[in-house]
Order: sequence, then C-alpha cells, then structure tokens
Amino acid sequence: MLSCLPDWAPFPAVLKGKIRLKSNDSTNPVAVGDRVVFEAPSDNPSDITLENPATIAGVLDRKNYVIRKSTNLSRQSHVIAANIDMAFAVVTLYFPEIKLPFLDRMLVTCEVYGVPVTIVLNKVDLYREEAPEYMSDFLSIYGRAGYDVVQTSAWTGEGIDALRELTAGRVCLFSGESGVGKSSLIKALDPSLDPKVGRISDVHLQGKHTTSLYEMYRLSSGGCVIDTPGLRGFGLVNLEKEEIARYFPEMLKVAENCRFTPCTHTHEPGCAVKEAVENGEISPERYSSYLGMIEEDRKFR
Ligand code: GDP
Ligand code: ZN
Repeated sequence: MLSCLPDWAPFPAVLKGKIRLKSNDSTNPVAVGDRVVFEAPSDNPSDITLENPATIAGVLDRKNYVIRKSTNLSRQSHVIAANIDMAFAVVTLYFPEIKLPFLDRMLVTCEVYGVPVTIVLNKVDLYREEAPEYMSDFLSIYGRAGYDVVQTSAWTGEGIDALRELTAGRVCLFSGESGVGKSSLIKALDPSLDPKVGRISDVHLQGKHTTSLYEMYRLSSGGCVIDTPGLRGFGLVNLEKEEIARYFPEMLKVAENCRFTPCTHTHEPGCAVKEAVENGEISPERYSSYLGMIEEDRKFR
C-alpha cells in the first residue's frame, strides 16, 4: 500500500519487475517507510484498486533503515523499515523483567543504523512506589549513557502526553520485547488504533514467502508508528570487535584518550574507558553489556 503524505489515503501498488530483480542482497526491495516514485491509473487514491493498482517505478534513497537477517545462515537480509525519524526502545523493569543487555543491543543497533533513539520506560505504575531504588538506578545508568528516558504508564496515562509530543510529525518505530506494552502505548496515544489486531507474530516471520511484514499506523495527533513485534525484529548487524565501542556513545566520548589505538577497552594499559568505569562516569552495567557483545563476536568468528 502507498500513501501520499501528509494525507493518509492508502492505495494498492505493485512493483515493476525491474526493481524486483535489482535488489539481490535484501529479500524485499520496498519496505514500510520507503519513499517511492510511482505511476497511478488515477489522481484520486480511491479510484486505485487491487485490480487496477499503482506501479512502483523506483525507491528513493533511504535516510536510514533497519534490517534483520533472513536466517542465521543466509547472507540475505530483510529491511524492516526505512526513513525512521525516531526509534522508541520500550522496556519495563518488571513484567517482563528487564534484561539490560537486550536493551543495550537495541540501542547499539539504532546507533549503527543512524536512527535516533529514545528509551520508553513503561509500566511505572507497577514499580515507582514498590522499587524506587531499582528505578533510580535504571535512570542513572541510561542518563550517564546520554539517552533520554520517557517514563510512561499506559494504564494511568502518565507520560503519554510527552510521548505524543515526541511522536508528532515523525515516523516512529516502536520496538521492544513482547509484553512490555507497545500496543497499549500506541492505543493510549491514539485510542482508535489497536495494533494487536492483525499483528503478525514473530514466528510467522520465519516463513519464506513473507512480503509485507510491518505496518505503519497513522496517529490522530500526527506522526506515524511502525510497530515491530518482539525484540528479534531488530537484528544486529555484524560488527567488528573494534567497532562496537563506537556505538556506545559514552565510550566513544572518552575513547580518544586511550593510550593505544585501536583499544578494545578490555586489558590495555592506559585505557580511558576502563578508567571512566572505575570513576563511575560509565556505568558498570553498560560496560558489562559491551564486554558481552565483544565476547559473542569472538564466538561467531
Ligand atoms: P506488547 O506485546 O509490547 O504490545 O504489550 P501489550 O501492549 O500487549 O501489553 C502487555 C501486557 O502489559 C498487557 O496485559 C497490558 O495490559 C499490560 N500493560 C501495558 N502497559 C501497561 C502499563 O503501563 N502498566 C501496567 N500495569 N500494565 C501494562
Ligand atoms: Zn580503551
């Protein structure tokens, strides 16, 4: 489906054979969020039907995009979404219990793809009173890393106005583990939407002939939302071990002061990153995620 923004009147479109063939490294030549050149049988979107669809003649250059690998073995990748203005990494401290390395992986992925990211800490109604220290620890870890955290509750409505302001006029990607409240938040932003209905499960994405996987919703307050089911929707690209620290903004900031270049920030003397961890400027949790990522990288090589 295509839509002429800022209007929202989606109409069907098919690909010209030519672009189908051109893209050989990704399984889908067009992804949600793409801007395209098209030919239409009519100027009026409502006259364009499945029997008489528009034809996509070309895909314009993407500002950014996120991909997932089709399978572990194949080199092919699937473009999840393109031209994203802001990603929202949705987490909650409990139900399901947060896994910081997962969140850090999402953040690194956004940094790699050049997608600005904001953390959404949802379900605060459940633990602000119950576990205030846990919550302030979380805020301190990600505050030091330089990320904005919006505290929300889809239940009480807390933080929803702030989130609405951040999503207004933007193409937004909501990502996060299943159960953290992505669809509840989208519904809170715009009660006329219900992403749970018709959402394609992550399991389904394993199928071979999947074509259009992700959907874009239009918020009544302006802006669009792409809802990605589950964390696995967000595959990590292959990074060289030496590269990973570049995508931890707080490490990047101090790494130029390391005595050695390149520095893996693990065992080298005079490492400015390790020093920053020792003096508390960089949180041990983030550093430990970093170590986990380079360890994993080693395993796959
Ligand atoms: P999704 O899988 O990320 O889309 O998560 P859902 O929106 O389906 O939410 C999962 C569960 O968490 C549902 O039972 C929601 O009612 C609940 N939930 C969502 N947001 C909140 C919240 O802010 N506070 C509380 N207490 N529960 C929430
Ligand atoms: Zn170093």
